[in-house]
Formats: sequence, C-alpha cells, structure tokens
Amino acid sequence: MRYLILPEKVQARVQELADRISEDYQGKTPLFVGVLKGAFVFLADLIRATRLENLWVDFLAVSSYGDATVHSGEVQILKDLSVSVEGRHVILVEDIVDTGLTLRYLRQLLLDRNPASLRICVLLDKKERREVEVPVDYVGFEIPDAFVVGYGLDWAERYRHLPGIAVVDGSEAS
Ligand code: 5GP
Repeated sequence: MRYLILPEKVQARVQELADRISEDYQGKTPLFVGVLKGAFVFLADLIRATRLENLWVDFLAVSSYGDATVHSGEVQILKDLSVSVEGRHVILVEDIVDTGLTLRYLRQLLLDRNPASLRICVLLDKKERREVEVPVDYVGFEIPDAFVVGYGLDWAERYRHLPGIAVVDGSEAS
C-alpha cells in the first residue's frame, strides 16, 4: 500500500473545489447529494470547507461492484433520497468516476425528477477508463488506471479510513 495522493494534497484540493462551489452557488441553497458509501468522507470535508450560508445534504446508496474490483455494469439503488430534488440546485458528489456508468445512471435519475440545476462533483477521475460520456463539473484529481482506496473508498470494505488516496498493489491481501 502506498499513497498516490497524500492527505494534505487531498485537503488542499478539497478546499479549492469548495471555494469554486461557494462562488458558483453564492446566495443559493444547494442540495449536496452524496453517493454512499464511498463519497461520505469527501462530502463531509467538502461541505465544511464551503462558505455557503445554507446548504442541504442527502444521500443515495448504490451498489455497482459488490466486493469485486471489476465493474459488473449493473447499478442498483440500495437507498433512495429522503428529500425531493424538484426545483433544487443539486450537486451530485461522487468519490470516483471510472467507466462513467454509475454517474450516467444517477445523473439521468436525478434529471428525471426536475431539479432547478444539476452539477456533478467527483474527487477522482480515471479518465482513460471511460466507457460512456458524462459531464463532470468539478474534478479533484485525474488519476491513472489503478485500483485506489482511502478517503472513503474501500477494497472489500477495508481502508475507507485512510486520510489520503492509496493504491492497492496486492501485498495487502491477508
Ligand atoms: P463507474 O460506474 O464510473 O465505472 O464506477 C464508479 C464506482 O466504481 C465508484 O463509485 C466506486 O464505487 C467504484 N470504483 C471505481 N474505481 C474504483 C477504485 O479505484 N477504487 C474503489 N475503491 N472503487 C472504485
């Protein structure tokens, strides 16, 4: 296990994203929608780094991988939102965009519910892995094609608590 992005680099970038979001949503009360479980750490830091007077938070839970590291192509909603997005300025917050299948599905799901606006914010972008196009408005880091953990991201439920982004290299199996 080695860090690809050190904890202090993550924090600095989260602050930059929060600054941009604070400017873009000045005077509004956006609804941040976090995608569980992976995005919960990012979302928690992101909202605390904003300078917005008001914001709302809600969560969706999806399952697209199970415990495998390969995308099954299936997106399953395990938990839906508890508030309505109709007429709201929604910011969909996701840990990582890989093939794009999950975000494309969630984007359409939210758009069908008539938000006033919808933007997507991801911490990590594995651009070279993209299979379907999805517009991402705020990106923390572009990363190479490697399976990463930490800062909310897991490997079979492990390593979510690491404060930076680390690469799983196979030596952690036991
Ligand atoms: P996509 O649908 O874009 O292929 O995948 C998005 C989801 O796959 C993410 O929300 C995340 O749960 C999972 N994922 C993709 N790449 C990684 C990775 O490198 N590490 C971890 N832990 N999850 C990943």
